[in-house]
Amino acid sequence: MTVRLAAGTRQQMLQHAYDCHPEEACGLLAGPVDGDVQRVFPTTNILHSSTNYTIDPKQHLAAIRAADQEGFEIVGVFHSHPHTVGYPSVTDVTLAPDPTWLYVLVGMEEYGSPTVRAFRISDGVITEEELEFEESMT
Ligand SMILES: [Zn+2]
Repeated sequence: MTVRLAAGTRQQMLQHAYDCHPEEACGLLAGPVDGDVQRVFPTTNILHSSTNYTIDPKQHLAAIRAADQEGFEIVGVFHSHPHTVGYPSVTDVTLAPDPTWLYVLVGMEEYGSPTVRAFRISDGVITEEELEFEESMT
């Protein structure tokens, strides 16, 4: 299945990844259920770690509320791997809370050319999803 992301979302995730580097950046993705990802909510990694992340619970709640006001739900999460490939780590798989969520990884193994990939993680099984980014009109 191809997942579509609204214009600007890729840039928002990359910007946050660079802003937080060398720590892992994280954030939430929102949109209609089973629809396009329409919103990116960059959040604080309260672990301030380069190998793990935990989303600030207050910001998580705020993102749920903001999404709800637009009729959206939180449909996934993104985080960066500041020094490694953008593929779910053992920790990512272990901690994956929801098999319906989209897990977007920003891989910064090569600092100047980051990758953005997306996965579903269900019962420890990783499935990569194809991403399609809408082009901005500007
Ligand atoms: Zn990770």
